Amino acid sequence: MKLDLRELIADPGGKKSFAFTLSPADLDFDGVLEYLTPITVEGAVENHAGLLELRAGIRADMLCQCARCLKEFQKPLEQDVHVYPAQELEDQDSVDYYLIEDGCVDLEEIMRDALIFSFEPRILCGDDCKGLCPKCGKNLNEGPCGCVEDLDPRLLALGQLLEKE
Ligand SMILES: [Zn+2]
Ligand SMILES: [Zn+2]
Repeated sequence: MKLDLRELIADPGGKKSFAFTLSPADLDFDGVLEYLTPITVEGAVENHAGLLELRAGIRADMLCQCARCLKEFQKPLEQDVHVYPAQELEDQDSVDYYLIEDGCVDLEEIMRDALIFSFEPRILCGDDCKGLCPKCGKNLNEGPCGCVEDLDPRLLALGQLLEKE
């Protein structure tokens, strides 16, 4: 969706709001199985004495799979976006500035970039997820599995050395 900023550029102090839904097609992230609701975007561009500032919030409910224990769980997508549409880019590499082309910015591109830039590479069901037992595959969040952990042979050797002394 293109947002036409020509009127806003000519209106210091002005504001232009927008709301739309983002297609999940290009938002294929590791660990996200499905988007359970439409991905909504709401925001506005404000002209602060010539400097344009775009703020938006992306919201949806996702069905995710934990990278450690493989459990499926629901998680809200809550991404805030804050960028500056600019008519000239001095620093081409800056992620905060977006070039205005023919008076417009591409809102979908801005939202997609923000999500890709900040998405967690490994989605976990919780920071303290214990994962699966590498031996029997039991989900250790549900309790211990009873497997005896093999002692590292180097530790064993060290233990024998210490006993001798
Ligand atoms: Zn987990
Ligand atoms: Zn086990």
